[in-house]
Amino acid sequence: MIEAKSLKYNLSDLEPFISAQTLSFHHQKHYQGYVNKLNELIAHTDFEGLSLEEIILRSASDTLYTAVFNQAAQVYNHEFYFDSLSPASSTKDISSSLNKLIEKDFSSVESLKEKLVEVGLSVFGSGYVWLVYEEDHLKVLPFSNALTPLVKGGMTPLLAIDVWEHAYYLDKQNLRAAYLKEVVDHLLDWSFVSSNLKQMGVSE
Ligand code: MN
Repeated sequence: MIEAKSLKYNLSDLEPFISAQTLSFHHQKHYQGYVNKLNELIAHTDFEGLSLEEIILRSASDTLYTAVFNQAAQVYNHEFYFDSLSPASSTKDISSSLNKLIEKDFSSVESLKEKLVEVGLSVFGSGYVWLVYEEDHLKVLPFSNALTPLVKGGMTPLLAIDVWEHAYYLDKQNLRAAYLKEVVDHLLDWSFVSSNLKQMGVSE
């Protein structure tokens, strides 16, 4: 049984950039729906009792389990996205090791933000833009639908931004660029990104 995770902020805390209405639908309907569907699919199977990460890794390599993979990866992707946001976003929370990598691969935080918007806009249909750490480099990559960097060997996920329309349609209608720009400028939890990098043993 996979338990749904609570948000680390209140539904209205991301306003005016993401409304309580959007976040309420996103967390309580979309995300909760993926959790419920996953639990239905894994009940009385070999997946029952495994951690979310184990379910994703085991189901990813077998097309027989595509439905399980899609639901499990969507649970993981959403938890990562919600944790990537904070009402107290501050670039002061960028650790020195993260800052070194940002300067090496993007030259500045501003350029990294522009890249996140550009790649987020390049996702055709539904998906996510991810910031990952791979082979001593930071990379900004588009992932379609439920695909997740968790299953890419050697890739450590640091940050995710959901660009499925349900993430912004109530607030911005079809204007994905406006949503992305506000998220990168006002809502990214740089402390979360820094701690994900630190867990990889990347020293200060
Ligand atoms: Mn979503």
